[in-house]
Amino acid sequence: MPTVETVQGAVDGSELGLVLVHEHVRFRDEAVAAEWPDRYDEQAELDAALQAVGEAKSRGVQTIVDPTAMFGGRDVRFMKQVADRSGVRIIACTGIYSYDYLPHYFENRDVDAMAAHFVSDIEGGIQGTDIKAAFLKCAADAAGVTEHVEKIHRAIARASVQTGAAIMAHSMPALGTGPRQVEIFEEEGVDLARVQIAHCGDTEDVEYIERLIDKGVYVGLDRYGLEMYLPIDKRNATAAELLRRGHAERLMISQDFCGTIDWFPPEAEEVFQSSGAIRNWSMTLVFDEVVPALRQEGVMDEQTFLTIFTENPLRWLTA
Ligand SMILES: [Zn+2]
Repeated sequence: MPTVETVQGAVDGSELGLVLVHEHVRFRDEAVAAEWPDRYDEQAELDAALQAVGEAKSRGVQTIVDPTAMFGGRDVRFMKQVADRSGVRIIACTGIYSYDYLPHYFENRDVDAMAAHFVSDIEGGIQGTDIKAAFLKCAADAAGVTEHVEKIHRAIARASVQTGAAIMAHSMPALGTGPRQVEIFEEEGVDLARVQIAHCGDTEDVEYIERLIDKGVYVGLDRYGLEMYLPIDKRNATAAELLRRGHAERLMISQDFCGTIDWFPPEAEEVFQSSGAIRNWSMTLVFDEVVPALRQEGVMDEQTFLTIFTENPLRWLTA
């Protein structure tokens, strides 16, 4: 069995067990956090991360894939603390999470120079540690696949080709970014069986998702609880239809939960809850509500559960 890098070092793939493939132990802007550290409470962030991960562990989760990249405040020391104290493995990535903005540093360096940064995170270690990235992350959102977004995708692709690392790409189905993202990876010679297009579950358009699956990529139904993008019952209907069409081996189910996130002032969470923009968003929602609903629907037997929550993440990371 091939090994997988975690923040605690390499483990045998067979040890990953039950995996949540898209959760963030903490999400914050590293520039704001560096300039105004007094606005953040590191202990409260750690407590929140441990609480969320602990609840996931109580549902049997053994490994969390955390795709927090540059601009999401990636901090592998923090991630290791969470892993050490919770007893849940955490898998870190490298890459850039930007919808368009690119620092001058990368704007004025070419694609291969950018890719070299990712390669060093995969082969050498991240942020001066010996913790290695196990996969690559990039994003396309409301701005579409802009020149900068395309540059990041090409650099991610080249790092994947060079190292064999898997790719997770944040996408925006409402804008149909997925096919173009896949096209760039294809042009760069990436093995599409190692690509996961995240956030496909934000659309009810099963044909759109199926066209991506037909290219050989994994699709993320990974924002359960974020009702502002799509409510749970509609997400479940899409998942059930994809399962009925025989796509279990290409689906990833997760919540994109953040132990803490600094995008909004603290009072906003109350508003999101009461307005229904989020509902039961957590690291356990898929086990508490989604899997039972899909079982009820007759599309989630034991083998399907194993395929989605253990075999798919392992195959994506290592195959
Ligand atoms: Zn995410």
